[in-house]
Amino acid sequence: MTVIGRFAPSPTGPLHLGSLVAAAGSWLFARRAGGRWLVRMEDIDTPRVVRGSAEEILAALGRYGLEWDGEVVWQSRRLPLYEEALRRLRDEGLIYDCACSRAELEGAVYPGTCRPGIAAGRQARAIRFRVPDEVIAFDDAIHGHVEEHVGRDSGDFVVRRADGLFAYQLVVVVDDGEQGVTQVVRGGDLLTSTARQIALQRALGLHAPEYAHLPLVVDADGAKLGKRDGALPLPSLDEPRVRETLAVAMRILGMEVAPAPPREMLDEALRLFDPARVPSQVIALPREDH
Ligand code: GLU
Repeated sequence: MTVIGRFAPSPTGPLHLGSLVAAAGSWLFARRAGGRWLVRMEDIDTPRVVRGSAEEILAALGRYGLEWDGEVVWQSRRLPLYEEALRRLRDEGLIYDCACSRAELEGAVYPGTCRPGIAAGRQARAIRFRVPDEVIAFDDAIHGHVEEHVGRDSGDFVVRRADGLFAYQLVVVVDDGEQGVTQVVRGGDLLTSTARQIALQRALGLHAPEYAHLPLVVDADGAKLGKRDGALPLPSLDEPRVRETLAVAMRILGMEVAPAPPREMLDEALRLFDPARVPSQVIALPREDH
């Protein structure tokens, strides 16, 4: 079976060190298995998309020597696919309309208020997935055996939002399935989404890929590197900076790779890479690294 990995950035800002680690980590996992490595632009959450950042991310991947296979897939162009998945789930009775507003819900676990049907006089807002009442287990290449009872930990979750947009949890599963992805290697913040995604895969009759959740990178103050962080803005994509930053990313992935032209660094990383050496804990960067 051909290994197919992917990097699935959200174009909500420039590539930052956390997303570079996800890109390089997923590239290493796929390439060491002789597999394909795809790039999927997760531009489904249109209000959060920052114009130009998708192009910036692709340009940055190029500067880092991370070459993808085939055409970039854009979620915003695949709406019929998500529509069809919802139709199938609806036919199976696995989703339902929900009238609850965020303000009415307390805590992270949906109590199932609209499971039996929407109360009279209330308006349908979001669509939720009826989660199975069971423990979902998977083996993560970095975190080991993970078990989660989705019903208890998240409850029925949203697959189509009140604003009409398809939810990340749905589209990621549909896309990984449709693209034949066999390896999901991504940031550690998504470890807690995986059981929900497996529940959806099962409902849609899709194969579960292998999972590896990379160390989450936080700044010196413990905050997740993100959109407003400004780490790795494009103006710093000059070659010396790229070499240094790639060396930092490789260190986070458990390897010492000396600064060199990016392609050479990637070749060296491929020789050295050992998933068993990737740390599972959160990595806090010293101030000068970001
Ligand atoms: N688009 C998501 C993000 O940038 C990643 C999705 C995934 O890898 O499953 O956080």
